[in-house]
Amino acid sequence: MNENLVFPVHNPPQKINSQIALYAGIELYILRLDLMHPSVNGNKWFKLKYNLLEAQEKQINTLLTFGGAYSNHIFATAAAGNLFGLKTIGIIRGEEILPLNPTLSFAQQQGMELVYLDRKTYQQKNTKAVEEELRQRFGEIFLIPEGGCNLNGIRGCTEIIPNTEQFDTICLACGTGTTLAGITLSLKREQRVIGFPVLKNGDFLRLEIENLLKSYLASNRYIPGDKSLFWELICDYHCGGYAKVNDELCSFKQQFEETYNIPLDYVYTAKMFYGVMDLLQKGYFSKGHKLLLVHTGGLQGNYGIEQRLTGNN
Ligand SMILES: *Cc1c(COP(=O)(O)O)cnc(C)c1O
Repeated sequence: MNENLVFPVHNPPQKINSQIALYAGIELYILRLDLMHPSVNGNKWFKLKYNLLEAQEKQINTLLTFGGAYSNHIFATAAAGNLFGLKTIGIIRGEEILPLNPTLSFAQQQGMELVYLDRKTYQQKNTKAVEEELRQRFGEIFLIPEGGCNLNGIRGCTEIIPNTEQFDTICLACGTGTTLAGITLSLKREQRVIGFPVLKNGDFLRLEIENLLKSYLASNRYIPGDKSLFWELICDYHCGGYAKVNDELCSFKQQFEETYNIPLDYVYTAKMFYGVMDLLQKGYFSKGHKLLLVHTGGLQGNYGIEQRLTGNN
């Protein structure tokens, strides 16, 4: 372990004093995973945790994973590898663009070896053939799928919400649904989880999440909750699709940040908060409800979106 780096720490939920929530008779709390650590933060830390521990246990000292050029997962894996004293290889979708953007430049500074894969081969990354090729090329590697979406990833996410009992509903943004699966498995009594997919046509995620839950339950891994598994998806707040933004989202984000002094990322958390605030205004939640919104991090990715918005890219 690199002793100069601090280990990620969990902080308790904070109350958000929102007029909209007050008016709706709802208590609103936020869990700031973005504050856990300067670089290994958000849900990505939880998804990495048991992967890192398994690699250590198996004495494999190289992690290999996949992501786009602005990936929060690439960023966190590079930093976590450095923290744990593991070598990291990042397989990046598409061609190399120089100078490196801040995400990749940070990853490289953390010691990650960046390897570019053309988009077509990248699509095949989960096939045995590509995996074999990577193992041939890089020797002994501990492979983590894109976004940390595996059973170790789910297990880590069961640790995201401590003392869950006090909340009725947990809200979070969904990409692959791994985080939602982990949180759902950690819940007790009749609590429910609402996921806000950030991709267009997010309905397809239902089946994926069911499959994630099924394989986790079949794997005999630790389950802290009571397996009641109440979760649902609200697919209306993708704002145009993955990494897309619209004017409404941008002005919501700015206003939210100014009002509550809590930074959001465009790709995930802004969309979820936007959705929740809209639902609150529409009277979606019953009075007396306690809501916990999970800030899953991802702030490092704002640079890429802002470059695009200001036309510098
Ligand atoms: C990756 C990511 C998510 C989505 O997590 P999944 O487990 O893939 O659903 C949500 N928020 C942030 C900030 C992320 O980086």
